[in-house]
Amino acid sequence: MICVLTGGTGGAKFVDGLRQVMAAEDITLIVNTGDDLLWWGLYVSPDIDSITYVLSGMLSRERGWGVKGDTFFCLQAMGQLGEPTWFHTGDRDLAVHLLRSRLLAEGKTLSEATSVISAKLGVKAHILPMSDSRVETRVDTPIGELSFEQYFVQRWYQDPVNSVRFAGASDAEPASGVIDAILTADAVVLAPSNPVTSIGPILAVPGIREAMLKAQGKIVAVSPIVGGAPVAGPAGILMEAQGLPCSIAGVAQAYEDFLDFLIVDTRDSEAAEQLRKNGPRVQCTQTVMRTADDKAALARTVLSLVCGGLYSSEPTAGATSDLP
Ligand code: GDP
Repeated sequence: MICVLTGGTGGAKFVDGLRQVMAAEDITLIVNTGDDLLWWGLYVSPDIDSITYVLSGMLSRERGWGVKGDTFFCLQAMGQLGEPTWFHTGDRDLAVHLLRSRLLAEGKTLSEATSVISAKLGVKAHILPMSDSRVETRVDTPIGELSFEQYFVQRWYQDPVNSVRFAGASDAEPASGVIDAILTADAVVLAPSNPVTSIGPILAVPGIREAMLKAQGKIVAVSPIVGGAPVAGPAGILMEAQGLPCSIAGVAQAYEDFLDFLIVDTRDSEAAEQLRKNGPRVQCTQTVMRTADDKAALARTVLSLVCGGLYSSEPTAGATSDLP
């Protein structure tokens, strides 16, 4: 059993690799819900959607979000009615939001709604929201506090960031199965997701960080920072706003209390040498995932590192390590 903590972009690419190299039934995903929003009155959970779509083979790899081949007739019609259209939802994507919203209105929890939807879409992996309570990532900027989607999608992350907080986190509880998945997994993987706004909200739910400290399996993170910058998106700005350098050292610092291994890109091998002196064990390999083969190779490297004999695979070309 592998437990993965993830957001919806770098995380989804990594999960796409994982599903190629191991049985989906053996993967439990704990997914960030800090980006969730009410859109046109519907409950949208962007990271849960991306993870569900990637595992069901529906994700648009071109866009990195939404359903492949989707149409946008409803979006167009809503625009004609004068409704906001900055958050793009395709027509098939909307069907999922409609179903989720109905299930929630009927009194189901987000976990229950997620498992109904993923079963209908043929997903065999276990997708768990980090919490069934509402935890909202809020980004403080000079124009005021924004939700993550306002900051990221509506305003193209152009605003300077003062700080980030997770509203509601202190009263939230981990969703059913989350703590158990972390404690009992053969390994816990932190996907190459934004440490502040994707992994940060998950770790802010009371009990989850403590569970990471007690996990029986090894804990490994894949760095979303490559060559001193994020592969895409605002991770660097947000890390600096939270007092973390935008580097592999910053990623290690975000997880320092529980991390066993950090996987970084070969471009960061010099920084990795430095980090090894007093940090976690660091392995360099190619971490930029452009093709299906890149994704599978990274997933294999992670699994062989943390599961050892439990997982056997061909060694990944180009991987170097400080491990025996
Ligand atoms: P979000 O929910 O959309 O914020 O998605 P995630 O948090 O899962 O992913 C965002 C992070 O993925 C960014 O910080 C990127 O640097 C990272 N990322 C995207 N593609 C790649 C990749 O191919 N390799 C690595 N190492 N990181 C990536």
